[in-house]
Amino acid sequence: MAKIAKLDDIVSLCKRRGFIFQSSEIYGGLASCYDYGPLGVELKRNVRKAWWDNTVQLRDDVVGLDCSILMHPLIWKASGHADKFADLIAECKKCNTRTRVDHLADHVEEHTEHISIDTAMAAQQDLSSKECPNCKTVGKFTEPMPFKLMFETQMGANVDDSMTLYLRPETAQGIFANFKNVLDTTRVRIPFGIAQIGKSFRNEVTTKAFIFRTREFEQAELEFFCKPSTDEKWYEHWKEARFNWYTELGLKKENLRFREHERGELAHYAKACVDVEYKFPFGSGDWQELEGIANRTDYDLRQHQRGIRTLNKWFENNKDLTTIELAGEAEDYQSGPLSYFDDEQKERYIPYVIEPSAGIDRSALAFLVDAYDEEEVRGETRNLLRFHHALAPIKVAVFPLVKRDGMAETARNIYDDLKKHFNCFYDEKGAVGRRYRRQDEAGTPFCITVDGQTKEDNTVTVRQRDSMEQVRVSTNQLLNHLREKLNM
Ligand code: ATP
Repeated sequence: MAKIAKLDDIVSLCKRRGFIFQSSEIYGGLASCYDYGPLGVELKRNVRKAWWDNTVQLRDDVVGLDCSILMHPLIWKASGHADKFADLIAECKKCNTRTRVDHLADHVEEHTEHISIDTAMAAQQDLSSKECPNCKTVGKFTEPMPFKLMFETQMGANVDDSMTLYLRPETAQGIFANFKNVLDTTRVRIPFGIAQIGKSFRNEVTTKAFIFRTREFEQAELEFFCKPSTDEKWYEHWKEARFNWYTELGLKKENLRFREHERGELAHYAKACVDVEYKFPFGSGDWQELEGIANRTDYDLRQHQRGIRTLNKWFENNKDLTTIELAGEAEDYQSGPLSYFDDEQKERYIPYVIEPSAGIDRSALAFLVDAYDEEEVRGETRNLLRFHHALAPIKVAVFPLVKRDGMAETARNIYDDLKKHFNCFYDEKGAVGRRYRRQDEAGTPFCITVDGQTKEDNTVTVRQRDSMEQVRVSTNQLLNHLREKLNM
């Protein structure tokens, strides 16, 4: 039976093998920021590729986009983030640690949505029986207060014309802002989606659990535009498609579930929202959000129509976002600049949007946790990552059994040939058993060893990571053999 990984096991393997390091470690580290090392960067590339292939390349109804991180500040006014993107926090008077109030609940609600600042101010929270997660003191909290999550920065060299911008807290708004561009320049017709993968930034209050919640992270988001009356059908379609994506990449079904948001929990614009949850090995709740799928109705495009109408006011207001009111909605908003004309039905409307929103880092963590295993082999512990082949950072490692008798040269030639097709690794140092163990920990599905017999019959051993089974394969059949096994 597969071993259930503890977070410490994962963190230590990631450090030891060069998957993930603490950011700025030589300066003592920067909280909740992480760097991906040589194996981690390959894992992350594979997660991105698997998402992109599945969501964009293999579909005829989705196109891709890559927007800038810095965007016009009114985008965040229209989207609601400038006014509403906050967490409700309380500070422990004893140790000064700030905690999200929803994380102080008896049953930790990891999944609570970020809230509006007005709601936060109005919220009456009784924290008298709550324990500080840091110093364990009970009931010594300040009044709950809102904490803005967007990072601010200044654009422009001159004081006079510099303006406050925000590092985007989600990639979705860049898609809405380009809806018309994509519509006008491609052949897409509704229903269709626009997909994007990119960095997002949130000044999270509670960061925890390694790369689960960080202040800089990568999102993979799809905005799927559809006719309003078809939204429920597409919502169900994307729920199923996204769940299957995780299981097809090897996540065990018993570690995944849907959690449908209840009415009171829904963001005001959302008609429905479901989290794909994974049974992460930390936190008191275990089940935590891996991805959110929401029916956002026509809210965002309508809001951006209001945003565009606010532009003049914004210039008059000296580009100050803090005091400006968003313009009201035009009476004929259904035929506004972000509306869609259906030329078959001869009708114009603002499309509804289904949004599956995944985290690349959070998915990578789930894949690491799920793949982690330990087993006893001849009295020794073997640590391994049973990655799906598509996710494995290195697909094939090539070794000479020993360096002499021409074995190293033959192994190098094989490696030089195979690396044109897959990500490969060559290793000739140390005992071959140890080299196998290193690759098991890296999650490499196949190791090839050139030995004394290779010179005689042109065969090598191909060792499979999970079963440790070894077969002899002729060198001229090697590429086909691996292609077939790896399905690449
Ligand atoms: P949470 O409740 O965990 O804060 P959220 O509901 O605010 O998440 P969304 O805004 O729906 O998250 O973002 C979509 C996805 O982006 C999440 O499901 C997650 O995979 C990823 N994500 C969001 N915030 C972070 C973060 N701080 N660090 C890493 N990944 C994140």
